[in-house]
Amino acid sequence: MRPIRYNVPFVAGNEAEQLARCLATSETSGDGQFSRECQRVLEKRLAAPRVLLTTSCTSALEIAALLCDIEPGDEVILPSYTFVSTANAFLLRGATLKFVDIRPDTLNLDERLLPDAITARTKVIVPVHYAGVSCEMDVIRDVAARHGIRVVEDAAQAVSSSYRGAYLGTIGQLGTFSFHATKNFGCGEGGALLVNDASLIERAEILREKGTNRSRFYRGEIDKYTWVDVGSSYVLSDLLAALLLVQLEHIDVITNARKRVYEHYLHALQPLAERGLVTLPTIPPGCTSNYHIFYVIVESLAVRGALIEHLKREAIVAPFHYVPLHTSPMGLALGNEAGTLPVTESISDRLLRLPLYPALAPVDAERVVGAIRAFFDG
Ligand SMILES: *Cc1c(COP(=O)(O)O)cnc(C)c1O
Repeated sequence: MRPIRYNVPFVAGNEAEQLARCLATSETSGDGQFSRECQRVLEKRLAAPRVLLTTSCTSALEIAALLCDIEPGDEVILPSYTFVSTANAFLLRGATLKFVDIRPDTLNLDERLLPDAITARTKVIVPVHYAGVSCEMDVIRDVAARHGIRVVEDAAQAVSSSYRGAYLGTIGQLGTFSFHATKNFGCGEGGALLVNDASLIERAEILREKGTNRSRFYRGEIDKYTWVDVGSSYVLSDLLAALLLVQLEHIDVITNARKRVYEHYLHALQPLAERGLVTLPTIPPGCTSNYHIFYVIVESLAVRGALIEHLKREAIVAPFHYVPLHTSPMGLALGNEAGTLPVTESISDRLLRLPLYPALAPVDAERVVGAIRAFFDG
């Protein structure tokens, strides 16, 4: 039986050639010609005021936390159903994390819980667009604006997805992308910071360049660069940008190929959903998805365990996803308790992800569907 993996990064075929072209420039550090082209492509396509490539989404989130001037005791609202970097970036600056529950339909931060979560110390809300589907950004943005709170979108999974005509990552004051190999568009390790508030652009460039004004020096605006602020080493190598550029040139190809698999699953699993055996993902009206994840939610932890085992015997990899941050060892050490976020805890036990990548053949998608049907119908 041929194994079916969970994820296989897209390959166009000219990657080695692009790397050779980058090496030939002898400028393989950051902000070389390939990086500048990636930034230009993203700014144009997403109508984003300023895109800065970073070594990861994690580092983009760290710059965002610095830009928000987080001080010990400041509160940051975020979902618990997310990757650790969403939390760590702010915790590193001394923030108090306020985890809120998620909506049962999109598994995104439940905007209806914000009024109760906001206090006088709330400085930032971090909506995470799970699976490439948007949070309810109009409500989040309005609530934040009313309270003078910044919005940092963790759009790691949502590059090229949109909400009411705006691309995700461009809606909050700041947005972050991941170009990790497991994401839709990847270069091994990489990310970007989207600076949508013009007043933050200059400092964002400085923090990203180890606290120096080297970006202004490169643009010829000053004749030597110097240390002007804190910062760290957050700039992506041009070698990786050369690989990223290939991916960005194929955004539509990759997205359409993923959509084909996603819709195959959605259609073929509908009968099981109608019988109440699985819950399938939804894309709310006004949102477009990049089809980052196709998940199914089953009845219980026990059913999920059995289904994962069943698929494994069929040589199909179908992983579960986040352990809630508030019930992980670090979350508990910070004073959080199990039983406080019922939707997050329930979903975390019952969700599994199906193989989804551009080169997944229709026969293999059908094999996955057949194996799930066989599990429920014997
Ligand atoms: C992948 C991911 C990250 C981290 O991205 P890196 O580029 O690996 O640092 C952060 N947040 C979310 C929601 C993610 O899915």
